[in-house]
Amino acid sequence: MIPLILVTNDDGVHSHGITALQNAMAEVGDVYVVAPDRERSAVGHALTLHRPLKAEELRDRVFSVNGTPTDCVALGIHKILPRKPDLIASGINKGSNLGDDITYSGTVSAAMEGTLLGVSSFAISMAGDKPFMFDSALPFAKRIAGYILQKKLQSDILLNINVPNIPLDQIKGVSFTRQGKRVYDNAIQELLSPSGEQYYWIGGGKPVWGQSEANDIQAVMNGYVSVTPLHLDLTSYSSIEDLRNSWQD
Ligand code: MN
Repeated sequence: MIPLILVTNDDGVHSHGITALQNAMAEVGDVYVVAPDRERSAVGHALTLHRPLKAEELRDRVFSVNGTPTDCVALGIHKILPRKPDLIASGINKGSNLGDDITYSGTVSAAMEGTLLGVSSFAISMAGDKPFMFDSALPFAKRIAGYILQKKLQSDILLNINVPNIPLDQIKGVSFTRQGKRVYDNAIQELLSPSGEQYYWIGGGKPVWGQSEANDIQAVMNGYVSVTPLHLDLTSYSSIEDLRNSWQD
């Protein structure tokens, strides 16, 4: 049977990144696109509860939803696709989803939602700035999709892929990594409006990355495609015992 693939993102249904991913996934299976009607980057795992959602079919099997990436995955799986998909591909995001930043990411959250709903999922992002070389990511997106469909992932695992934003022939290969650490430095800019009012702008500074060990950040900086397996279980297992041992009754 031909695999059924749901493609979504957080940059919106009109982003070139999602069109590139749609075309790549079309070589692997039957593709439906269900994506936000506008950019919803950094909405995390938000779900829309307090207003109605609409899904508009823009073209054959391409749906625009006035909601978040997580809304799109839920609607796609439960209402729009003809059956439960075999794979969810989220991206290709304009910008990296590395280290601690993945906790804000709509791109990664869409893959998390897929995993929660029992569908193998991956998120894929271009690590770098405009102009984005989505073509460099396509062979890796196809390979990852093929791998997941063939080998399957553990039920609570999703893959977070970051592709260096460089020409394909300069990419050195694939590196399997752990999630890195972002060092927050000047993350909030304090500015004055023309009328003299103070205001704040989050995310104005350049990220500073921790360099302590081999991780997703170092992999892309060294020219490798980073593949980080993430799990939904956020429990710190070692801390359970620490807490028990140090708890004073
Ligand atoms: Mn985005």
